[in-house]
Amino acid sequence: MDDRELLYHSAHILLPQIGIEGVERIRAAHILVVGAGGLGTAAATYLARSGVGRLTLIDDDTVSASNLPRQILYGEDDIGTPKVIAAFRALGRCAPGEITIRGERLAGEALAQAVAGADLVCDASDNFLTRFALNAACVRHAIPLVSAAVIRFEGQLLAVHPAMPQAGCYRCLYNDEAYADEPRCADRGVFAPAAGVMGSLQALAALKMVAGVAEPLCEALLLFDGLAQTSHTIGRRRDPGCPVCGLAA
Ligand SMILES: [Zn+2]
Repeated sequence: MDDRELLYHSAHILLPQIGIEGVERIRAAHILVVGAGGLGTAAATYLARSGVGRLTLIDDDTVSASNLPRQILYGEDDIGTPKVIAAFRALGRCAPGEITIRGERLAGEALAQAVAGADLVCDASDNFLTRFALNAACVRHAIPLVSAAVIRFEGQLLAVHPAMPQAGCYRCLYNDEAYADEPRCADRGVFAPAAGVMGSLQALAALKMVAGVAEPLCEALLLFDGLAQTSHTIGRRRDPGCPVCGLAA
């Protein structure tokens, strides 16, 4: 790093858990963020500003007025624009690293290839089908996954790490395919700052993981309640019958 870069990253370098080595790891990392909504715009902002070397953002939606309270990379001028285009413009002003965008909904082999090319995946999507597919691809290719979700005033966050198979995967928690028919979070209402909290916590976990700092959420599930202003974590164990990571998988 040159003097300008050392100054830019000085607040992280001062942290004994991160230091120059952690910053270099962050600068060398490729993180894939799937979903550029309330979670993804908050997470991508901190990931990009923290100097992630390459950030790939995937989303197939366009900006609408109802997005603006919580999707913090967009403004009135962006309504009707693909989210990844608007996000690219906004992040380009504040990201020292490279930003790559894909304005499509990936599935099947294309999704698996995108996952396999990343060092870590942030699931900031808004539907169970994408969540299940991302989780399965991450487990298959042994790529760490940080999965965040928000609905109403509530959020949840977990990390799935290939080095900790005993903790199971996302699918271990939602082992019924009926979840795939659940309505999207935005269809039931979402309180804007709750999305920001969860997206920020997602970036926090992802950056720690690429920097080599221990992340307890690799073995636990964090539940946030914005109405009660509480959060707590519960331990996770692999479901032996999980179709993705179970003993028969
Ligand atoms: Zn599982």
